[in-house]
Amino acid sequence: MVVVMTAEAGETEVDGVVDRVRSAGGDAFVSRGMSRTIVGLVGDVDHLDTLNLRGMPGVSDVVRITSPYKLVSREHHRERSVIRVGGVPIGPDTLTVIAGPCAVETAEQTLASAQMARAAGASLLRGGAYKPRSSPYAFQGLGEAGLKILAEVRTETGLPVVTEVVDPGDVDLVASYADMLQVGTRNMQNFPLLQAVGGVGKPVMLKRGMNATIEEWLMAAEYIAQRGNLDIVLCERGIRTFEKATRNTLDISAVPVAQRLSHLPVIVDPSHSGGRRDLVLPLSRAAIAVGADGVIVDVHPHPESALCDGPQALVESDLRELAAVAAHLSPLVGRTLTPAPAIPREAALA
Ligand code: PEP
Ligand code: MN
Repeated sequence: MVVVMTAEAGETEVDGVVDRVRSAGGDAFVSRGMSRTIVGLVGDVDHLDTLNLRGMPGVSDVVRITSPYKLVSREHHRERSVIRVGGVPIGPDTLTVIAGPCAVETAEQTLASAQMARAAGASLLRGGAYKPRSSPYAFQGLGEAGLKILAEVRTETGLPVVTEVVDPGDVDLVASYADMLQVGTRNMQNFPLLQAVGGVGKPVMLKRGMNATIEEWLMAAEYIAQRGNLDIVLCERGIRTFEKATRNTLDISAVPVAQRLSHLPVIVDPSHSGGRRDLVLPLSRAAIAVGADGVIVDVHPHPESALCDGPQALVESDLRELAAVAAHLSPLVGRTLTPAPAIPREAALA
């Protein structure tokens, strides 16, 4: 059950609802959104129904929700949400391309990748400074030095930055540089991390756990929402199956399924799904055709010497085709390709 407060409701009205629910033996979690506050209720729904919450001051609506996730469910919010990342929309009317290197390696490599991202039709830049690697001997990312490079490249290119955070203790630091925080597949059920990103005022891209069901994925999103951050974008990045020909199996049906169950945007990562450069364009076409709200792809100026995921990175000669695919297919699925923000004036003159 979810209590939607009126836009004018203040702390006293919210506390009133929380107190009434708790004194009746239930529990209440307050989520403060940009425009209004929502209180998620846990407990015996039939009993909570008798509390006359609808009649309380500051309450706009009480919604009975049957799915195990509430705030992210379509039952709670019928309209599909638009999430803004540094002003760039991700939502049902647009197609948003995010591109960049798997990992930030050097300032030159990141700037070159950002220019490649623009050429590929991207409006957001991706790049990891904290890398969750399967091997402890593999490159782990540059840490804060990488975040500084991303911030400089944003100033130079105008592209807002999406970057991963792997440790709850780093969330504030990463959020101070990033426009959107990424929670990777390996951390989809890292509950302290989900709660920490739920407490910051930056949008979150939540990748699907490689072994997670769609319901578990939405429950993970609910952890973030429950802490008050409803600016969440879901990312399907392939799941583990018996098939070995691809790195992961892109679960294309997860896109419309998640969009029907949740109001949150759903994007696709064809790079980490296929794990091979030659599959990125075909999988991108499939993602756009099935109705994804965007795609996130790896690019690299020199994939042969990349410190992470070189085999799946698009190269210069692929970019024009990705841009054409995005531009040509988006009107066919009723969307507008999200334009890249303008290049900052000083950078354009330099
Ligand atoms: C990534 O996007 O760099 C990444 C590590 O992805 P995933 O968590 O999906 O493996
Ligand atoms: Mn990667």
